[in-house]
Amino acid sequence: MTDIDGLHALTNRIRKSRRGVVLSGAGMSTESGIPDFRSRMGLWRDADPMRYATREGLLADPEGFYAFWRPYFASLATVRPNQGHYVVAALERAGLVRAVVTQNVDGLHQAAGSSTVHEVHGTFRTVRCMGCGLRASSAEAFAQSEGAPRCSACGSLVRPDVVLFGEMLGPVFEDATESVRAADFLLVLGSSLEVAPVSGLVPFAATRGVPVAIVNREPTNYDGLADVVVRAELGPSLQEIAARLGLPGRDC
Ligand code: NAD
Ligand code: ZN
Repeated sequence: MTDIDGLHALTNRIRKSRRGVVLSGAGMSTESGIPDFRSRMGLWRDADPMRYATREGLLADPEGFYAFWRPYFASLATVRPNQGHYVVAALERAGLVRAVVTQNVDGLHQAAGSSTVHEVHGTFRTVRCMGCGLRASSAEAFAQSEGAPRCSACGSLVRPDVVLFGEMLGPVFEDATESVRAADFLLVLGSSLEVAPVSGLVPFAATRGVPVAIVNREPTNYDGLADVVVRAELGPSLQEIAARLGLPGRDC
């Protein structure tokens, strides 16, 4: 069911904004065929996250770690942005949104044309050498070998360029926080807001008087802080908003 009143209020809010920030989560990419965290919990039922999602797990068994992740890396070659990603990019081009803060590691906001994207949990699109720090594209690194990929410069093991469990977020999180501090509007798209410290950006914004809107198919922890909550599917909702604002929904 479409939340017409919610979409109306949200469209008006976006129309007034000049320094909007989008905060996106895994729900942004489900319409591109990438499962969100809830579905991935199924993955962790059969697989131990300590083995496959930590630095220690990678060092203890690099071949096992990469055998687990190889299909996810491979799927990145074929996934495409969905309508929602294109609308977010159009909002930036129209001068209504200044930055995207994303928890996603799939690179789809950039693929859709968003230019200022803070990837606070890193990216699966690149790997980095645990010896010399050299970065390489994941596609290139995985093409080299069947087992654990190695650095082309020094031969050391490489790691995914993402924040693994138990690791601190990099300086990109400070940039993301600054963009929220400077925002006149925070638009949360497709996140359960259960993962800290990113979820903390919502109370951070709200306590500074930055209006917050949340579009998600389920309730989130911070709905009570939001000025507008739209409980709906992202792609159709964002298409509707783009149409109301006279923006192209898709950049062809
Ligand atoms: P989450 O899975 O905790 O929450 C996603 C939310 O989006 C859920 O509440 C779900 O109901 C909602 N949702 C899913 N599809 C939707 C749709 N089409 N329309 C509207 N709502 C929809 O995701 P999170 O808050 O981003 O936290 C998960 C963590 O896992 C993050 O740290 C992220 O880095 C990582 N992750 C990333 C990806 C990716 O890069 N695409 C995918 C899975 C997990
Ligand atoms: Zn190296």
